[in-house]
Amino acid sequence: MSYVDQVIEEVIAKNPAEPEFHQAVREVLESLRVVVEANEEQFKKDALLERLVNPERQFKFRVPWVDDNGQVHVNTGYRVQFNSAIGPYKGGLRLHPSVNLGIIKFLGFEQIFKNSLTGLPIGGGKGGSDFDPKGKSDREIMAFCQSFMTELCKYIGADTDVPAGDIGTGAREIGYMFGQYKRIRGLYEGVLTGKGLSYGGSLARTEATGYGLLYLTDEMLKCNGKSLEGATVAVSGAGNVAIYATEKAQQLGAKVVTCSDSTGWIYDKDGIDVALLKEVKEVKRARLTEYAAARPSAEYHEGKGVWSIPCDVALPCATQNELDLEDAKTLVANGCFAVAEGANMPTTMEATEYLQENNVLFAPGKAANAGGVATSALEMSQNSERLSWTFEEVDGKLKNIMVNIFHNLDDAAKRYGMEGNYVAGANIAGFEKVVDAMNAQGIV
Ligand code: NDP
Repeated sequence: MSYVDQVIEEVIAKNPAEPEFHQAVREVLESLRVVVEANEEQFKKDALLERLVNPERQFKFRVPWVDDNGQVHVNTGYRVQFNSAIGPYKGGLRLHPSVNLGIIKFLGFEQIFKNSLTGLPIGGGKGGSDFDPKGKSDREIMAFCQSFMTELCKYIGADTDVPAGDIGTGAREIGYMFGQYKRIRGLYEGVLTGKGLSYGGSLARTEATGYGLLYLTDEMLKCNGKSLEGATVAVSGAGNVAIYATEKAQQLGAKVVTCSDSTGWIYDKDGIDVALLKEVKEVKRARLTEYAAARPSAEYHEGKGVWSIPCDVALPCATQNELDLEDAKTLVANGCFAVAEGANMPTTMEATEYLQENNVLFAPGKAANAGGVATSALEMSQNSERLSWTFEEVDGKLKNIMVNIFHNLDDAAKRYGMEGNYVAGANIAGFEKVVDAMNAQGIV
């Protein structure tokens, strides 16, 4: 049995009931097969892959909090510190009822390569809780965030582990967590990113993941003789990534015709009205039915269906495994020529393979959505300097980073004879830097 297959088997055996983690490891290791085979003896001797797939450490803790009726609830908190070879752990905190250890591990594992691809000195980590912020009052959110941070603050710090937002963790939650960290640890430091502008946040962080997705997509299309100008784009999600992806796509001359949330989706033949979408989702925190009610050109449908709308470019920006083989077939049949992942692992492996086999340009999330974490690292730099850069400065650096990421993965794919396979390119380019640092630091 090959070394790659042996490690995949071990991961499945040692981490039962963690299908998303198995999927992420399989996807990464499969595409690294050619690199691993070229160095198999040495990697095996050094147990390099085993060290890569086992987190340096992981924490699981109780998070008790009291609701507005005096009822006590108990959620589970997680922080997985996966790999610190190239810098302090960095990765978001997900608050969603679906969160479990396997999901946090899949995200933390992906984060190692994503962070490496940015070219910035950040290691991989991820955390969160099965707490559901939906329908909670501000006071309940604060109670949860304070309790969560009371435990988490023991393990993080500006030079060790710097969490950020993710699904369910936006500026409000980061603010409550930052306040509690400062109160307990007595330190005013850049321990979290995604902070508000009045207390150490970075301009352009809110926009960064969505904008970055479009900067990379734009570069990928240009290098393949295509353009966003005049293209029809389907976006899923209606959260942070989806909103700013839609905004930038429109600025680049595309027409975005869809968005979705966990209950339904919108087809707006005149193009999504971003100002209205922001009002509904960022201000009112309401359902998409409110968007449809305010916009005559929009149709609202219950359930899932964004990928049934004919488009040139598809940008899945909601959650993992939201674009499956059937969706991929529909996209191809409708003439879609590019898919770029705003969310983490939104495309199933079968769907990814189908898209690639049918010559659809495919940018994987670990490269395409790296703009968020890259700008988080820029926030860390500003906090260390105790300076704030302008929006244009941050946005300019973000654009450079995304263009560089695309060329790094394009080059890596070419070097290994897999031209155009950006999944392999991203994994290889991210892996090479991490492995180099791990080798230099010895067996730790
Ligand atoms: P948000 O919480 O702001 O938005 C998530 C969106 O996806 C919402 O519209 C939500 O609907 C929808 N959604 C969530 N879960 C499901 C589900 N199970 N089925 C259908 N729809 C769902 O999160 P973000 O925009 O920040 O994150 C989206 C994705 O991007 C995630 O995969 C995240 O890990 C990834 N990402 C985010 C980064 C960031 O900077 N924010 C950086 C890199 C990656 P509803 O409103 O109903 O909950």
